[in-house]
Amino acid sequence: MNIAKILKVKEMRRCIGCFSCMTSCAVVNRHNHSLAKSAIKIITSGGLSGSMAAVVCAGCTGVRACAEACPTGALADREGGGVTLLPERCTGCRKCVAACALGAVHFDSTTNKPIICKHCGVCTQFCTHGCLEMEEA
Ligand code: SF4
Ligand code: SF4
Repeated sequence: MNIAKILKVKEMRRCIGCFSCMTSCAVVNRHNHSLAKSAIKIITSGGLSGSMAAVVCAGCTGVRACAEACPTGALADREGGGVTLLPERCTGCRKCVAACALGAVHFDSTTNKPIICKHCGVCTQFCTHGCLEMEEA
């Protein structure tokens, strides 16, 4: 049986800010080396002396604010949590970007489409510090 999994942030105190997770997401999912194309973002919290934090889709179940805000039905419920982008329906209005309280929807101005986390888990495989994990939904 194929059980849906969700990306979870496990332990960011171990993060050294190498951006391997972001690079792997951008390369594998968007065929691009630009960190701007990654669905997961690693940021500093509290300036240079602060620790690192991950901004990533929490895999909402029930009401998904991003999908609710989409006027064209371009974000379909993903099994187990989160959403799947239906690009042919997307007009690039960015309402999903504004709607996610976590700031987890980014926007690709080249394609004029949002960058939506697929919860594929490639980032967890490239983080060698054990900061990220896949959890059964
Ligand atoms: S940018 Fe696309 S997916 Fe996002 S709300 Fe607008 S139409 Fe929907
Ligand atoms: S992008 Fe934001 S609102 Fe949409 S499912 Fe993920 S966490 Fe929830």
